[in-house]
This record gives sequence, C-alpha cells and structure tokens, in this order.
Amino acid sequence: MNIRNQIILLFLLTVFSCNSNVEKKGMDPVDLKVEALLEKMTLQEKIGQMNQYNGFWDITGPPPEDGTAKDKYQQIKDGKVGSMLNILGAKNTREMQKLAVDNSRLGIPLLFAYDVIHGYKTIMPIPLGESASWDLEAIELSARIAGRESAAAGIHWTFAPMVDVSRDARWGRVMEGSGEDPFLSSAIAVARVKGFQGEDLSSVNTIAACLKHFAAYGFSESGRDYNTVDISEITLRNIVLPPFKAGIDAGAATVMNSFNELNGIPATSNSYLQRDILKGEWDYSGLVVSDWNSIGEIVNHGQAATLKDAARLSVIAGSDMDMEASAYVNHLADLVVSGEVDEKLIDDAVRRILRLKYNLGLFDDPYKYCNEELEKNEILSKENLEASRDIARKSIVLLKNESNILPLSKNKKIAVIGPLADDKDSPIGSWRGQGVTNSAVSLLEGIRKAVDNKSNISYAKGCDLVIGETSFIYELNINQNDPTGISEAVQLAETSDVVILVLGENGFQTGEGRSQADIGLAGVQEELMKAIVKANSNTILVLMNGRPLAIPWAAENIPAIVEAWHLGSEAGNAIADVLFGDYNPSGKLPVSFPRHEGQIPIYYNHKNTGRPSTAPNMVFWSHYTDMENSPLFPFGYGLSYTQFEYSNISVDATTLDKNGSIKLNVDVKNIGETDGDEIVQFYIQDVVSSITRPIKELKGFEKISLKSGETKTVSFTIDKETLQYYGYNGWETESGEFKLFIGGNSVDLLETSIVFK
Ligand code: BGC
Repeated sequence: MNIRNQIILLFLLTVFSCNSNVEKKGMDPVDLKVEALLEKMTLQEKIGQMNQYNGFWDITGPPPEDGTAKDKYQQIKDGKVGSMLNILGAKNTREMQKLAVDNSRLGIPLLFAYDVIHGYKTIMPIPLGESASWDLEAIELSARIAGRESAAAGIHWTFAPMVDVSRDARWGRVMEGSGEDPFLSSAIAVARVKGFQGEDLSSVNTIAACLKHFAAYGFSESGRDYNTVDISEITLRNIVLPPFKAGIDAGAATVMNSFNELNGIPATSNSYLQRDILKGEWDYSGLVVSDWNSIGEIVNHGQAATLKDAARLSVIAGSDMDMEASAYVNHLADLVVSGEVDEKLIDDAVRRILRLKYNLGLFDDPYKYCNEELEKNEILSKENLEASRDIARKSIVLLKNESNILPLSKNKKIAVIGPLADDKDSPIGSWRGQGVTNSAVSLLEGIRKAVDNKSNISYAKGCDLVIGETSFIYELNINQNDPTGISEAVQLAETSDVVILVLGENGFQTGEGRSQADIGLAGVQEELMKAIVKANSNTILVLMNGRPLAIPWAAENIPAIVEAWHLGSEAGNAIADVLFGDYNPSGKLPVSFPRHEGQIPIYYNHKNTGRPSTAPNMVFWSHYTDMENSPLFPFGYGLSYTQFEYSNISVDATTLDKNGSIKLNVDVKNIGETDGDEIVQFYIQDVVSSITRPIKELKGFEKISLKSGETKTVSFTIDKETLQYYGYNGWETESGEFKLFIGGNSVDLLETSIVFK
C-alpha cells in the first residue's frame, strides 16, 4: 500500500471507530435497523451484499469468464449476492427474490437494477434530445414515467441519469448525457433524480437513481469510449463535477464510478474522487457501484497485477459494490483476514447498501415491486405514450427555416424520402431499456396520420443506413454504400411539391462502444441528399441522430433543417406535429454542432486565448487556415415559427457586494404571428481573474410562452454564487467586472455589466 492510501486508511479507521461509539440514541431509525442487522452478519455475508451479478439475458457488457448461471443462483441462496442487474418483470424478479429471501441465512432481499435510460417500455427521447427541450418539468415527468414503469416491472434501481458532460461528438455516449454545459447538465440531473425518486423511495412508483459515471468519462481522449482521461483539476471541478454535486444535493441514492482512468488513476480505484471528494468533501452517504467489471479492468489499466489487488484498491478507494467482476466475492474475505483491508471499510460499504434496501421498503416487503397487475396497467399506458409525444415535440430543434418554408400545408404533394423515413426502430435509440424493436411511430406513419388526403404522400427509401444489428453487436450493413435506390427517390422528388428527407444515424450508431471518427452522414446519404436537393429545392431535412452531426453542405444548401434526434415511441407523430405547425418548435441545442470533426473538442464556454483576434489576412492568431473557428450551430441555438425580440437589458444595481444580490431584467417580445415558447438564456463572463475564465458561461435560463405580440420581462437574480468558480484556492468569487449577457442562444446576446466588490 502506498503512503497516500495508508494515510487515507488511517483516517477512515479513526472516523469509523469514533462512529461505532456513537450513542444509538438519536440515530436515524433506518440507521438503527442497519446497525442491528450488520451486527448479525458474518464477514462473508457482508461481502455478499457488495456483490452484484448480471441476470444473464440482457448482457450490457462482456460476460464474465468464470461462473455459470447455476453457480450464481447458488450464490444467491448462500447470501453471496446483494444485487442483480438485468432481471426484469414482476414474475422474474419475484422468483429471483424468493431465492435470496427464502434460502439465505438472513433473508436479505436483493436489489434489482437496470439501465432505464430514456424509458422502460414507453420510450422517451434519448437524453441528449430531451435535454434540447431545456424543459425541466417535461424532463422530470419523463424520468417519473420511466421510473413508474420500471418499478411496476420489479426494478428498484436505475443506472441513470448519466450526467457526464462531454465536448466530443465522436463519443458514442454523448447521446446519453445532457450535452456540453455544466449548468444545464446540473439542472437536468436534478430534474431526472427527482423524476426517478419522487418524494419517497419506498413508494411502488419510484426507483433509486444513479449518477454516472464518476468521473470525467465524457472527456475520454479523442472521443474513443473507455479511453484515457487527463484533465486539470480546474476542468474537473468547474465542468465535470457540478452535475454530480447537483444530483447528490437533490438526493440521488447512488453513484456509479467509471471505466476511465483520471490523470493516471482508474476511477474505480480512485480515492481522491470517491473518498476525498464524494464521501469526504460532499459527505455523501449513498452507495457507489462500480461499472461493469471496472474493478477487473484495473488490471488492464496496469494499476493492479491481479484481480485480488484490484479488489483491495477499489474497496479502499470507496467502491462499495462490485458489478460483475466477482472481485469482492472471491477476494475480499482473504484481504480482510490478512489485514490488507480493514473490516470497517466493508462495514461502511454494507451500511450504504442496506440503507438503500431499507429506504426502498424491501425489508418491509421484498416483493412489493413485483406486482403483475400494476405492471399490466402502467406499462405503455395511453397517458405514458401521450407524455412521450409531448416530450418528443419539446425536444425538436428547428435549425434552419429559410423563407418560412415550414410549417407545411397539409394539402401539399409530399415525397417522404430517406433511410430513416419509415424506420420504426431507430427512433427508439440506443440504451432503449425494454423498448420493443420496430415499435416507434415512423415519420412516414406520423405524416400519413396527420394529413387527410393520404394519396398525397409518397415514399422512397433512397438508400440504406449503417446498421447496429443488436444492442451489443455492431455490424456494418453491406448495402450501406449502394446508391441504386437514389434514382427512384429522385423521380419522386421531381414530381412532388415538397420533399421531406429523413437522414442521420441508425438507433445503434451511438451509445456505449459506438464512438466514431467521422461524424458526417454515413454511407451514401450525402449523395442521396445532393441528388434530391438538385431534383427539388423545396426540401426539408429531418435529422435523426444521437450525436451532433457535421452537415456543412446541408446547412448551406437546404432551406429547412429539423433536428429530431432519436425521439422514442412517438417520434413520427411528434415530428409531424412540428412539420405541419400543430406544434411550434422551441428546442435549443444542448451541444455545439461542429462543421467538421477536426474542430473537436468544440464548445461555447471556451477560453479567449492570447490571440483571439479575427483580423483579416493575419496568420498568427488562434484559428484554422481551412475553416472557421465557429461551430455550424452553436450551443443554445434553435428557431421557432415565430420571432422573439430581446430589448431593455437592465440591472437594478451595478455593484454587487458579497452579501447582496442584483436583479437582471430583459424584455422578450413575440414579434411574429404565431404563439410560441422561448428559452431565455443568461450568460456571464468574468472579465479579469487570477485564472483565465471562459468567454461565456451559462448561469440561468427560463422557458416562457408568449402569445403573438406579447411581451414578458424575464429576470435573473445574481449573487456571489452565480459568479463563483473553482480556482487554485477552491471556490471563490473574485472582485472586478462581470459581463452579463441575455439572449436566445449563446451567440446572439444583449450585454450589460456589473462590478463585484
Ligand atoms: C455501462 C454502464 C451501465 C452498465 C450496466 C456499463 O457497460 O458503462 O453505464 O450502467 O454497463 O449495464
């Protein structure tokens, strides 16, 4: 053990031995029950609680080499398993629960966990898409429905929300997060935690949330999944950690660590992250689960020679539960007996796990979530599907609408073209829970339903897509480069009033393990697009994708572009609502769309550099010689069928002191003919500070509805905390000038300023 770990261990032992002398009077009743149970447990039973196995029929990672299902069922009976993932359904969870409750010596119930990322069976927009709504109520509702459906299927615990900030569209898991900004991601983390967990974890309508992946998983080098992360403390504290902290403050019951190493130490064996920050500074009392075999992978990282040593490092570093590595169940007892791991660390981990089981109500009734009747009524209910459609509409971002070509009249002769136009599967997206294959409403179906004269609608596929065959085996479709379907599509385009061209990514093209070096339109889609636009300039491009796509040609040459992500069960209906103007779009990008992957990482809250000048004909400034610096579509950007005018930015004082607050106001007017919603965004810039600060940082937003002609004043309150950042002395607000900006995206902004004293 190195000196650092020895010191940490010593510290923990002191803390725990003090704790064990704590008077039991005044203790939380759940803690009392936990202590009473802990006292009865053998070392092996305690370690059993720290062991989590997969349920063998929905594999979300490489299956373990050792152990058959039969062995593992026996281990459940022997009290050597605390939790299972991927066991689903009221019936199956009841059977599995019985194994533990009826057979193990203490009858401690199992925790059933599952990746409910954007819906259980009623599928909601992928998290990145949903984040484009900036609608915290809608996002909370989406998580609540996902939680209700999963709880009805026997699930206690979701491995969501993923709160990894990412600035890299190549990273496949960008679809699973809330984009590039820590402020927006924090607000969304809170909404999702509240949605999953509700007011009461023991209710049969709620499940425990899990903030993942702790930490910095979204900063993998070159956007390649699982790759090394090397970032500064400043970036860690200001960009990566805030959404975790916000989620924890909102009560998130659990945290998952991550596969990546951070600055040389794998996250799973990282004491600095888990002991010092999470359980130390933040005083987190929830449980930390490893990622899938991430304890085993410490050997691959080269920090441990054996699985046993990886187990030792991980438990010392504060990983409480071992997902699928069998490291704890096989090695912790020996490590305790040899004195390499203190049993008090085991007790601490087990307390966290038992506390969650008590809080979920499992000791009162281990089968309370196994209710077939509830399962039948809740899952895919009409209300849930309606909510999915509404959230999907709110997630759509209108990127371009030249000459107001949108919304479309329903009487037009419309050609619906493209490999995603009648795809009933891709909108279900990656990490789809129990979303059924081909169960989404395709856009073609949505359009046909929306118009009266069905014969006005014609369809051609045009070409195929790159296909991810199943949720874990990725195959290239051999037809992806076959252009033979293009000519039929062109003929259709020529004979129609307008074309709706539906391009983008297959539902499994993003997600875990699906990083891409090229983020343009795959296969022959670009060729199809150019041919269609040549045939009919009234073309509307609808994008379905899980990551920002680089589409410079489309942005230049197509009059209207609608970003429709992978929107879930009701995708086609929701997009049709927007295309025909039954719903006025209000989504704003939660992430910058690059012109080209060479610009990555690209993000709005970047630094100024020493050479930001845009002087013409100058070589020596921070730029590309072959491309603009700016993204194709910036963070916060999105249009509406109406226009909003911002005016009268004002502050009620120009000087702020450390105990005061200032009100920042702006008038927003709907100057168009249509009623609409706008997301008003507030950014700051710390002009001079001891550490260089971003040129802009989001510090507030509000979604407002404005009738045509209506004006509203929107206000934001600014205090010391609004202006603070994490520097070399911790969190601080430095005196000096702060610029304040308000607008409808991160670029077009009104400006004023204040001074902090
Ligand atoms: C992912 C986690 C997920 C886990 C269980 C891992 O591969 O990184 O996010 O929760 O599998 O399915």
